[in-house]
Amino acid sequence: MMDFELAPELRMLRDAVRRFVERELLPLEPRYANEADIPAEIRSRLQEKAKELGFWAFDLPPEVGGGGIGAVGMCVVFEELAKCNVPSFRAPTVLTPYLGPVLFHCNREQKEKYLLPVARGEKRTCFALTEPGAGSDPAAMRTTARADGDHFIINGAKVFITGADKADFVQVFARTMDGDRDLGISCFLVDKGTPGLQLGQSFELMSPDRPWELLFDNVRVAASQLVGEVGKGWDLAREFLDMGRLIHGPKSIGRAQRALDLAIAYANTRHTFGQPLAKRQAIQWMIADSLVELHAARSMVFHAAWKVDQGQDYHLEASAVKLYADEMLIRVVDRAIQIHGGLGLSRELPLELMYRDARSRTITEGSSEMQRMIISAGALSGRYGANRFEA
Ligand SMILES: Cc1cc2nc3c(=O)[nH]c(=O)nc-3n(C[C@H](O)[C@H](O)[C@H](O)COP(=O)(O)OP(=O)(O)OC[C@H]3O[C@@H](n4cnc5c(N)ncnc54)[C@H](O)[C@@H]3O)c2cc1C
Repeated sequence: MMDFELAPELRMLRDAVRRFVERELLPLEPRYANEADIPAEIRSRLQEKAKELGFWAFDLPPEVGGGGIGAVGMCVVFEELAKCNVPSFRAPTVLTPYLGPVLFHCNREQKEKYLLPVARGEKRTCFALTEPGAGSDPAAMRTTARADGDHFIINGAKVFITGADKADFVQVFARTMDGDRDLGISCFLVDKGTPGLQLGQSFELMSPDRPWELLFDNVRVAASQLVGEVGKGWDLAREFLDMGRLIHGPKSIGRAQRALDLAIAYANTRHTFGQPLAKRQAIQWMIADSLVELHAARSMVFHAAWKVDQGQDYHLEASAVKLYADEMLIRVVDRAIQIHGGLGLSRELPLELMYRDARSRTITEGSSEMQRMIISAGALSGRYGANRFEA
């Protein structure tokens, strides 16, 4: 049996979130769309409202106070949130802390100190894997964590870390063993304010995101700050990246849907040579291509999310979703700008921002080339088989 219908409760949630986006978030867009974040007081007000409406932490499991709506539900909500260009909704932290899977590996003490406060929206965190010499190839990392009695001493530098400026603690990956690219990596939770941990420069990008450099100079952390086991950090990073890549999907389809809606509305109203643009085949084909690609991406997203909810491996699907949905978004926004002519380039419309923002998506959380490497490695080794995506 195959069912493409959204469950009635998910449809209701989607409609309610859509209204929240229209009433609460879109009015903030003209003021904050080009900022790296919204002011703390606006964020708190929106978080309170989200809690009142029962949206808060919709994606987290009930054990940590979340809505437990599963991966399909999460994708439905993220798609709606992505239609808005208010900064927090590029990483939609007003409705959810979006923990990422690493913190679910916390032990009991760590859970009280880190996982639960983040789930309640009281603390913020960031994920620090990338280094100046280790982006696509994180196993080349040079940050070290040397054991020193019942402590570790961390030294190194991380770059492009989203939210490092606002984080109360850092999930940092460091090398605990020389030589072994896979087994030599461990993950630590490091509190802001720990001596030797410093915020470095921020990176000004073409999108409004402002990721940060983090410097570790003899940062001494207790062994109790280790997440999971020594040498198993790589599994945690992969888990985080798989989920992050899946979530690129709904964010890209939400953005693309908005761009397409704008393009359709404009094509129907703008007249040239005595007729609406919508009467021209050149325009019709752009609309058709965008619609079909958007539909393909959405189908891939929900298939991958369904696999997550079934407890199935979705490593390959996450890469396929990220690759296709992010590249699709660039094409769809590009066509929407083309249809709008000069207006599409102007700051009167959100399209130019969406274009700048879309461009970064095929690089963050693993570039398109890395996703193609993962997918082809899976197919060519026979590990997944060429018919992996068969029903
Ligand atoms: C806005 C933003 C936010 C980010 N947030 C975070 C964060 O929160 N935490 C974090 O840890 N990191 C973060 N990153 C870092 C991001 O994950 C890396 O930028 C990304 O993985 C690419 O690494 P790189 O920039 O070092 O490029 P490189 O690895 O130097 O690659 C350069 C180019 O070469 C290509 N390439 C590399 N190797 C190969 C190969 N073998 N075959 C073919 N092509 C190849 C790549 O695809 C890319 O196009 C962020 C980056 C950005 C831009």
